Amino acid sequence: MSATRRIAILGSTGSIGSQTLEVISSQPHLRACALAAGSNWELLARQVRESGAEIAAIADPAAEAPLRSALGESARVLAGPEAMTEMVRACDCDVLLSGIVGSAGLGPTLAAIECGADLAIANKETLVMAGAIVMPLARQSGVRVLPVDSEHSAIFQCLQAGKRSEVRRVVITASGGALRDLSSEAAADATVEDALNHPTWQMGRKITIDSATLINKALEIVEAHWLFDLSAEQIEVVVHPESIIHSCVEFCDGSMVAQMGRPDMTLPIAYALGWPDRPVRPTPPLDLAALGRLTFRPLDERFRRAVELGFEVIRRGGLAGAVLNAANEAAVQAFLDRKIRFGQIVPLVENIVNQTPPTAEVSVASLLAADRWARLQVAAATGEAPSDPARERVEKSSKRDRPLGT
Ligand code: NDP
Repeated sequence: MSATRRIAILGSTGSIGSQTLEVISSQPHLRACALAAGSNWELLARQVRESGAEIAAIADPAAEAPLRSALGESARVLAGPEAMTEMVRACDCDVLLSGIVGSAGLGPTLAAIECGADLAIANKETLVMAGAIVMPLARQSGVRVLPVDSEHSAIFQCLQAGKRSEVRRVVITASGGALRDLSSEAAADATVEDALNHPTWQMGRKITIDSATLINKALEIVEAHWLFDLSAEQIEVVVHPESIIHSCVEFCDGSMVAQMGRPDMTLPIAYALGWPDRPVRPTPPLDLAALGRLTFRPLDERFRRAVELGFEVIRRGGLAGAVLNAANEAAVQAFLDRKIRFGQIVPLVENIVNQTPPTAEVSVASLLAADRWARLQVAAATGEAPSDPARERVEKSSKRDRPLGT
């Protein structure tokens, strides 16, 4: 590959965003042109200086002044809830890497499609909420949607071993999350710290809790449905505690193709940014003899309710994805804020998904209304004021308690 590829990053200060900058710095044909974050202006300013990005966007208006003074004339600064979308429209990127967390990724993703930029998507929440809008729009605009989630990158890679019509099913692997060895009674009272202690992956807080509840697999089932046009019957989940096989595709002759690699997100990030070429990476070889064996087991009964939500959303269609995503975002936040117990997350989300309002039409407006409705249901159940993801980020700016780039 010769031409320089301009990359814009949503969520550059997070786990995916920081690893994306690491990948870009190691690939001479990739260049970071614009970076966006929620409120962490110090890290954003450092990243802009180090990468030479031309635009910095920050959602928290209170972070605008310090970001401007840190960057001076070296980069254009955009701030406020619409800053990410404005950045995408202004930056002339070839690829938008969406590493933001939550449904706040929808607006800038739609803007990237309008601008004809390819999408490298880690932000599964946007696809779960609005796959019915994003995927047809991307197809109509000739925009490629490249998966970054490790399981979906694996499926994408395995699919290249056959024709689409030859695919029988896909098998998504699950590590089992931080609480996989606990009984359901013990897991129900797990603390925030216990649930954040993931055995194989270092990730942001929200996805780490989703991994512990296994709702992450429900989200991934819906994500696979939209990305690869799969029915619920074509998707299966198996527990694979070592996180070495990231997913498999079974073809019509019974052959199963699996993608293996260390649990290292720089691999799927680099693959998405370099596609169709495979980038040279300094990853140490996977020593199979030293690994000894890889193990698989069916989902424990106690995880079935969470995973089943993904299949239920595919079967229901309509607004169900938006409801699942928003109810889960709000319930996870309530758990992280220590307002509900770990064991309450899945039943609360399930109850709200089961009441998904019917719709005559899936549109951005109806999806946003469903998102708001689901958050209100969680707020009513937990006795809290309803959350608004953009505003929530802003309000949190003064109480950061997460180590950066986890
Ligand atoms: P992090 O919590 O580590 O990072 C989130 C990023 O998004 C931060 O840069 C944060 O900014 C920014 N952000 C959050 N809300 C807003 C907002 N409203 N406006 C602007 N910026 C915002 O998350 P992860 O990197 O772990 O996850 C990101 C996405 O990737 C999620 O959808 C997750 O499911 C998916 N994913 C992550 C994997 C991983 O290994 N981490 C693996 C596979 C998928 P700030 O720092 O200023 O708060």
